[in-house]
Amino acid sequence: MTEPAPPPSPTGAFDVHHPPSAERVADCVHCGFCLPSCPTYVLWGEEMDSPRGRIHLVKLALEGEAAIDAGFRQHFDNCLGCMACLTSCPSGVQYDAILEAARPQLERIVPRSSADRWFRWFLLALFPHRFRLRLAATAAWLARVTGLRAAVRASGLNRALPENVRALEALAPDVDLKPAWAGLPAPAPVASPRARVALLEGCVQSVFFPAANAATVKVLGAERVQVVPVAGQGCCGALELHAGADQSARRRVRRLIERFDRAGVDRVLVNAAGCGSMLKTADRLFEGDPFLPTARRFVDKVNDVLEFLHELGPEAELRPLGSSTTVGNRATPTRTRVAYHDACHLAHAQGVRTAPRALLRRIPELQLEEIPDPEICCGSAGIYNLVQPGPAAALGERKARDVARIAPDVLAAATPGCLLQIRRHLDAGIRIAHPIELLAEALHGDGDHSAP
Ligand code: SF4
Ligand code: SF4
Repeated sequence: MTEPAPPPSPTGAFDVHHPPSAERVADCVHCGFCLPSCPTYVLWGEEMDSPRGRIHLVKLALEGEAAIDAGFRQHFDNCLGCMACLTSCPSGVQYDAILEAARPQLERIVPRSSADRWFRWFLLALFPHRFRLRLAATAAWLARVTGLRAAVRASGLNRALPENVRALEALAPDVDLKPAWAGLPAPAPVASPRARVALLEGCVQSVFFPAANAATVKVLGAERVQVVPVAGQGCCGALELHAGADQSARRRVRRLIERFDRAGVDRVLVNAAGCGSMLKTADRLFEGDPFLPTARRFVDKVNDVLEFLHELGPEAELRPLGSSTTVGNRATPTRTRVAYHDACHLAHAQGVRTAPRALLRRIPELQLEEIPDPEICCGSAGIYNLVQPGPAAALGERKARDVARIAPDVLAAATPGCLLQIRRHLDAGIRIAHPIELLAEALHGDGDHSAP
């Protein structure tokens, strides 16, 4: 006697633990408006590497019509999670929620090769830990000051490394050790504050771009905003969530929310776009959990720092960034040309495009330049440029070429990932900076536009 066939699973090829929502998938009407803004579709022209194709794959898997195997997962590994498709979709398809649910499933269902597993394990054991990042930054600093890094590059030995390790080496910035270890400067008390806020220090931001955090505190102080320190913040879990490690991301963000909740502030400010977009939707991780009301209260307070300042209405007087040239007997400030790059997790995921531009335009003699195809990702995307180094490099080179055509004095982007990625592919003569750094410099007119 033959065994009866098992009943079809209600979640198809997905397991029952938070599968992607069939209702969200059904919102896609296959119009294709999202295709030109999808970086992987732009690179390869493959339907299954477009938002529409990926949503169709999820639909087939939910209906049990497609098996989830390595080929299936590759299309999702290729996705940058840049959310350009959110912006371009006229039907309001929540691709972010579909991807967020699909990725942990793919990690569970399709085992990775041991090399891939170990590399991902290493990245997630490093980046969410500030102390380990500081140790890594110190090692990178030693390799630079002893000439080891330059010698390895000159000998060509680095070319023998696996592609993803080579990408890690190439992306590592020159770190200034003292501020990297010092942490956030103590905020000065503000008389008659317009708001009380807490600032997320971030992991990569606080170690590799501590100047952006220091500048944030300085600008907020000048705008009469009291920054309330929140000790022991830890990581927000964004990198883990984007890599499909939803359980540890959930634990991390819960700890972080509890800490910030105790601070009793009006707003929680973030100056790294990837962290901001994660924190603005962190309540999604607690659906059906008693922690949900606390998570929602927190989420309602989260703002990107530029979005917050624009809404608050800046008051501080700004001066030109550039030095002056003397014409006749009159000192004329030189114009500073700044190209603003839309970080995907700020523009697409958070819808913040106007605020950074409006704030930068407040700086006298600053000429704002637009980069062509602003909707196309630079290839950074969390750990994407380390785990998918090929397409990330193609996108990074494309973005760097577009920036180089404008030849600005400064490239500004509101997240550390984009700054590292574009710097890797960009002419060293162009300075990179977070917009808040330029605003802080303009407070005292002490901008230095020499390349780092
Ligand atoms: S998130 Fe970005 S890469 Fe992924 S499907 Fe959407 S547009 Fe394409
Ligand atoms: S995701 Fe949106 S834009 Fe893309 S095909 Fe579906 S409905 Fe059209």
